[in-house]
Amino acid sequence: MIKANNTDRKSWIHIPANSDFPLQNIPFGVIQPLNQAPRLATRIGDFAIDLLKVSELGFFADFDLPKAIFSQAYLNDFMALGRATTRKIRDRIADLFDDAINKWNSREMKDELLFPLGEVEVLMPIKVGDYTDFYSSIEHATNLGKMFRDPANALLPNWRHIPVGYHGRASSIIASGQEIQRPYGQMRPDPEKPPVYGPCRLLDFELEVGFVIGKENELGHPISVQESEDHVFGLCLFNDWSARDIQKWEYVPLGPFLGKNFASTISPWIVTLDALEACRVQGPVQDPEVLPYLRSEGKKNFDIHLEVILTTESGVEHVLSESNFKYMYWNMAQQIAHHSVNGCNLRVGDMGASGTISGPEPGSYGSMLEICWQGTKPVELADGSQRKFLQNGDTLTLKGYGISNGIRIGFGEASGKIVDRILA
Ligand code: CA
Repeated sequence: MIKANNTDRKSWIHIPANSDFPLQNIPFGVIQPLNQAPRLATRIGDFAIDLLKVSELGFFADFDLPKAIFSQAYLNDFMALGRATTRKIRDRIADLFDDAINKWNSREMKDELLFPLGEVEVLMPIKVGDYTDFYSSIEHATNLGKMFRDPANALLPNWRHIPVGYHGRASSIIASGQEIQRPYGQMRPDPEKPPVYGPCRLLDFELEVGFVIGKENELGHPISVQESEDHVFGLCLFNDWSARDIQKWEYVPLGPFLGKNFASTISPWIVTLDALEACRVQGPVQDPEVLPYLRSEGKKNFDIHLEVILTTESGVEHVLSESNFKYMYWNMAQQIAHHSVNGCNLRVGDMGASGTISGPEPGSYGSMLEICWQGTKPVELADGSQRKFLQNGDTLTLKGYGISNGIRIGFGEASGKIVDRILA
């Protein structure tokens, strides 16, 4: 069998130039065609491919898969099959839609297998069990340290020794396209006055990459840094929406709570680590050297170009940031090793997020807080308006892709529009 990643592959499905979804990507997601039940799917170009149908037509018959594995509303059971199996399925899908391979009659059945994306709903693909958010970009942590603590000593003493994280909320992780209700809550805008209740005034995004756990470890059995990546099924874009004013008032001493848990938006096609293999790069040098249980070798970072686009209610578009996942100081292998070093068990469907990804330049910062430097440097939009934080009617979109050997492997988008139905 040819590997899905083979760069010589061409599909018989039309793939637009600069598509994130060539034949070498084959991400996994969940779709719901009109008047039908949800089912597992993949995406090539601008088509969703119904994997339930592919399976019913016998194209996976030689794999001995559990019955009904593709007629699920979430990817969890599929991920739990293990990478050896999901990898075979991914390679087979690439074969089925490869222009040079005529072994199967998939081309003749295309009307049954393919849905133009506009004709199906693309659903939240993961039933998320637990969710952990890290804080692993040194540029982001330094920026926040400069703003809120000591500019000369921006990083806290633990930061270069531990991939810092906190346990977040799984229930409010949603798929791209769902509206974001502006959070209401308690804040203290004037430190001289008592706290107030009301709509968040400092609504922000956080540019992150999420990972999905596809293999569990037993409680009490840490995952070594060498084995960590075996536990990752794939990646997605992740917007950790943040209410800065609520967060600022509440976070001492136990950390983020309501300023974070109202919504996080992900891109709905989970891109496998296999697909991203050619995007691997060496991470930054870690100084001082980390403890042995965190020492990872080889290319554990990923060169994934990231963009953040603001679109106003009237359609004015503005690129707020261009960054890259490769800047991460702590990589996923280290995050997972650290997460489980005390014996904590990760389960299939758990998610982790990288933490806000900021690059070295202001144009590559991963939040409004940093881009506008606490509101002191507003962003000017083409229609003359300004933003320090996000307004009702604004749509915030994350995009991301890696390019290797001329092949672009991307994530599509994670997009959400801010509304206030409480006010209305
Ligand atoms: Ca975050």
